[in-house]
Amino acid sequence: MSKKGVLTVVSGFSGAGKGTLMKALLKKYDYELSISATTRSPREGEEHGREYFFLTREEFESMIETGKLIEWAEYVGNYYGTPKEYVEQRLNEGKDVILEIEIQGALKVREIFPDALLLFVTPPNITELKSRLVGRGTESMETIMKRLARASEEANFMEHYDYIIVNDDLDECVETTHQVIMNEHYKVSQNKNFIEAITAELKAMKEGAI
Ligand code: 5GP
Repeated sequence: MSKKGVLTVVSGFSGAGKGTLMKALLKKYDYELSISATTRSPREGEEHGREYFFLTREEFESMIETGKLIEWAEYVGNYYGTPKEYVEQRLNEGKDVILEIEIQGALKVREIFPDALLLFVTPPNITELKSRLVGRGTESMETIMKRLARASEEANFMEHYDYIIVNDDLDECVETTHQVIMNEHYKVSQNKNFIEAITAELKAMKEGAI
């Protein structure tokens, strides 16, 4: 029914398993994941143009200045931002686009795209969160503590989101996320064109034109 793509924003505490969730979701279902630009260094196994576009601060600042980003934010000392062109193009093609971004960016997206669907991914509890961050083995304890401090600030913004997705069982989490996004297609706000077409058709019929 809905021809317009749904723009979904996925945020959550660092270590909540958003990345794993996104990979599993994309493997099973047809979503377009926007690739962000960042100034942080690649982690082992990450590739330019796949996980992120890894840029220098100068390159990133030039993207800000030339209006090439929908939103951007600083997170634990680095810039992160969403390239505009890709997202707008895919939405216009009717594709469902997902942005996996932190809270400041998510709230900015909501201002620009009021119909965006905001999902917040959280582990079942904070002990689990810390053990996931430590278990990842990619960051120093100092960075982990910074990320946990940031999580504590971020918790205050959870109520601005539309849905809370608890990432306990991955498969279940994939299905829940997919269902929530699918439901969005039936929202009245997502179907303005359909409503207009039906209304026009009824009017024409009433007037004997068809
Ligand atoms: P990480 O360094 O763990 O890959 O990402 C750190 C945080 O930056 C995560 O919360 C991630 O969702 C967020 N992030 C990634 N890309 C973007 C982006 O384009 N914009 C914003 N605002 N945050 C982003």
